[in-house]
Amino acid sequence: MSQNERHTETERQKQIIAEARRNRELREKTYRERALKLFPHVCGKCGREFSGKKLKELTVHHRDHDHDNNPPDGSNWELLCIYCHDNEHSRHVDAEWYGAEVPGGDQESASSNKPFAGLAALLKKKE
Ligand SMILES: [Zn+2]
Ligand SMILES: [Zn+2]
Repeated sequence: MSQNERHTETERQKQIIAEARRNRELREKTYRERALKLFPHVCGKCGREFSGKKLKELTVHHRDHDHDNNPPDGSNWELLCIYCHDNEHSRHVDAEWYGAEVPGGDQESASSNKPFAGLAALLKKKE
């Protein structure tokens, strides 16, 4: 009996974690889009410009490293290319932007999301 209970508990925890991750991915997508509308598509560190397919290499960095702190004026955001963003975080491990680009273990959404993300960026640029 106790084994069954533990199994159920694990399943419930798995569900909660999966839902939290989904919510986070959704939220990250939203603030990335907002940040891309607010700021020029230029890396804040190296100054490289990003457009079209390359735009997905531009990521949102949180100045205070708190990705729950998303003021609508974008004051906590900085657009960084993936290389500079990696440098910025190299001192301590932080999955902030990995969460969006490489969903851990979620192979299905990873393979179906990526081509569309590129396509959407391309279409947006042409308008
Ligand atoms: Zn850069
Ligand atoms: Zn960051």
